[in-house]
Amino acid sequence: MINLFTVVGVLLPLCFGANSFLIDFWSMGLLLLLISGALVVARLVLNPEDPPYEQPLPAAILIGSLFALMILLIVTGGYDNSGVMWIYILPPVALFFGGLKIGMSILGVFVCTITVLLFYPDNQLLQTTYTLSFKIRFLLSLLTTILFSAVYEYTRQRSIQRIQNLNNKFEHLAMHDVLTELPNRRFIQEELARELARATRNNAACSVVLCDIDKFKQVNDEHGHDCGDKVLRYVAETLSASVRKQDLVARWGGEEFLIVVPDTPAESAAHLAEAVRNRLATHRYDPENLSLLVTASFGISEMNSQKTVNQALSEADEALYAAKRQGRNRVVNTVTLSED
Ligand code: GH3
Ligand code: MG
Ligand code: MG
Repeated sequence: MINLFTVVGVLLPLCFGANSFLIDFWSMGLLLLLISGALVVARLVLNPEDPPYEQPLPAAILIGSLFALMILLIVTGGYDNSGVMWIYILPPVALFFGGLKIGMSILGVFVCTITVLLFYPDNQLLQTTYTLSFKIRFLLSLLTTILFSAVYEYTRQRSIQRIQNLNNKFEHLAMHDVLTELPNRRFIQEELARELARATRNNAACSVVLCDIDKFKQVNDEHGHDCGDKVLRYVAETLSASVRKQDLVARWGGEEFLIVVPDTPAESAAHLAEAVRNRLATHRYDPENLSLLVTASFGISEMNSQKTVNQALSEADEALYAAKRQGRNRVVNTVTLSED
């Protein structure tokens, strides 16, 4: 749309500008050439990634130059008094590049200006003459075009907003687990790659903590799947409430969670995991007065410039497996594991 507008908006004034010079209409020729140049400048400063109405400078250049051209066309009548025919370009362009609010304000000022120009006593502000019925019909048809363009722009912006909202909703659904509302494995995998890159750049460590609920199958078997779901939500909430703001908790799968602990070596991440383990082990969870003691085991590893995400994750998995073997409800750090 922007490129199409630029091509048409540059070529048309160039051709008509050249023609104006040929017929000795110097003021129009000069303005048309200026507009052609202004549109090239506006295109160069406009970033096509962002909506045009969020970029005041190119929008001002575009709408300002068109505004000036339209006024000149009305005052002089243009070639053979046919200049007013081009006025209908202004409403869609002003709304597209200015947005609904600014576009409508500019169009309001424009309509007021041309009303004064057209109906000033004895045509004193015009260099040409229009009949009264022409002026009235011209104004009415312009107002109708503005109204339809505004309604169209309003529905267009509302549709864009709706699509944006839907897009945000689906993106959230694709990246989050429905049961616990935590980020899911897909989300955290992207995050892990980003965190590793950041850790490597800053020559820092970033730890990962795998957490697996102990004997969770028993909860399902003894109290039912719904109760199992409640326990999963309870553990998710406890984990989220126990970590720092910069840490990330995700549902890794089944009854496993992953905590990403940026700027933290494995030993410090082990302290954090120990605090979470302790919090779970010293509280009872009471769904339907069942008073359950939910414990979990933790495996820790560290990502750094020498270790890939997958290496760190499989080390954390090994450490978790060791914690299970050692009797569950404990934290095992890969570093300690390899030292053993
Ligand atoms: P361990 O201490 O060795 O980890 O034993 P566990 O019973 O926790 O592990 P196991 O892998 O034997 O069982 C995991 C169970 O988690 C099996 C599966 O049905 C259950 N599970 C996985 N996802 C969900 C879920 O979303 N909701 C519920 N209620 N149960 C789930
Ligand atoms: Mg498991
Ligand atoms: Mg388990």
